[in-house]
Amino acid sequence: MKIKSAEFVMSNSDAAKCPKSMLPEYAFIGRSNVGKSSLINMLTSRKSLAKTSGRPGKTQLINHFLINKNWHLVDLPGYGYARVSKSAKKVFQKFITQYFALREQLVTAFVLVDIRHKPQPIDLEFMQWLGENGIPFSIIFTKADKLKPKAIQRHIEAYKNTLLETWEVMPNYFITSSSTAIGKDEVLRYIEDLNWN
Ligand code: GDP
Repeated sequence: MKIKSAEFVMSNSDAAKCPKSMLPEYAFIGRSNVGKSSLINMLTSRKSLAKTSGRPGKTQLINHFLINKNWHLVDLPGYGYARVSKSAKKVFQKFITQYFALREQLVTAFVLVDIRHKPQPIDLEFMQWLGENGIPFSIIFTKADKLKPKAIQRHIEAYKNTLLETWEVMPNYFITSSSTAIGKDEVLRYIEDLNWN
């Protein structure tokens, strides 16, 4: 898919106020600093469509972008800030739970995971929660340029082994880098196939 247009639509702190439009929607979520903003900018070939985050823990917003005038890319807040309080975590959980409960137009979520790290409980728990709630998702491994091909394979295998302890099959996944644009065509083709087939 060629990205011909990418426009910011709105930011919300309340899932109920997201666009009423029933255009197919794809949500991107992951730990803070995982490379979500960079990935969104890479996928859309825009320098700063998604703002690379400043200080973690600041206002958490759901950002809608209209792509090619026919689908929404949604930038969800990053989770897992070490410095936020328990009450802030609760607010975040409610906020995200509501988003997933309300958005019938969501086709799939993309859970971003830094390919350099061992499987992190917070990501595994989040995927578990998506699974239990019947929300389809794929994993996007980010920052692949930081590892050599052999290490990439080793890290993916380790991730698979951990996931297969609880999942019957490995969820669909992509290996990406915002620096080299590895994985860009695959992710965009996947979205295109889901949208128009
Ligand atoms: P966000 O908080 O998840 O939106 O993450 P950002 O997109 O702001 O990226 C966090 C940091 O990781 C920044 O310093 C980016 O330059 C860096 N980064 C993001 N993606 C990549 C990537 O694919 N390769 C490399 N080498 N660095 C990346």
